[in-house]
Amino acid sequence: MLIDEKLCTGCGECLHYCSVGAIIATPSGRIGVAQDECVECGACLRSGACVVNALAREQLSWPRVLRARFSDPEVRGDDRGPSGRVSPGMKTDDVTHQMKRDEILVSLDMGRPNLGVRLRSVEKVTRAVAAFRPVFKIGNPVTALMVDVSTGRLRDDVLDEKVLTATIEFTLKPDALGKLADLLRPLSQELDTVFSLGLACLANEDGSSPLPAWAAAAGIGLNPNGKLNVGLGRGKGEA
Ligand code: SF4
Ligand code: SF4
Repeated sequence: MLIDEKLCTGCGECLHYCSVGAIIATPSGRIGVAQDECVECGACLRSGACVVNALAREQLSWPRVLRARFSDPEVRGDDRGPSGRVSPGMKTDDVTHQMKRDEILVSLDMGRPNLGVRLRSVEKVTRAVAAFRPVFKIGNPVTALMVDVSTGRLRDDVLDEKVLTATIEFTLKPDALGKLADLLRPLSQELDTVFSLGLACLANEDGSSPLPAWAAAAGIGLNPNGKLNVGLGRGKGEA
């Protein structure tokens, strides 16, 4: 995001709407955008806070355009990768029959408003997780940036980019969940951002969930909230 110095009155209204604190008062007393911190989420622009229209989105080129694709819900991807944070899988894999019994779909949701996340930190996690030989989710924007899904390595030219949030998705066998938790606990202390762990699986035939037992065996505490997929992801004509 850019601020047109000729139009900006320095009122400071837009500061309150920046999701990562990238709009700052410069040493010269003007208001500016710290370009390396800006995740191109567009929130300042959409807020309508600037009554003199001094905020302006620049034409973003690769790899900076990734910031907007991961952070701004109004920006779409192209042939170099999808937009958004996740694949549709977490919500639709059960009804599209891509989810298997005795398999967990794991999501690691990295970054948050106020913090954001560098793709270098995302790669740190994908590389560590790759040791478990997970199946990284096709259609996920992080997977699309991998040059090697067996090592979790991302493209070198994207690592310095900062985004609001990025979600790593992969499938895992339930007996690997404990090892994943053991890996993530110390890793969480090394990262300069936060992440949350999401788990999804098929319900048992009787409607109960196997997840609480799997999570307990792995030493993972579950929050008593979640999402129940009611099947709206089914394709036309599917039962
Ligand atoms: S685009 Fe987002 S991150 Fe960048 S200055 Fe505006 S609100 Fe802040
Ligand atoms: S709201 Fe507009 S005029 Fe006020 S500081 Fe931000 S860019 Fe400048």
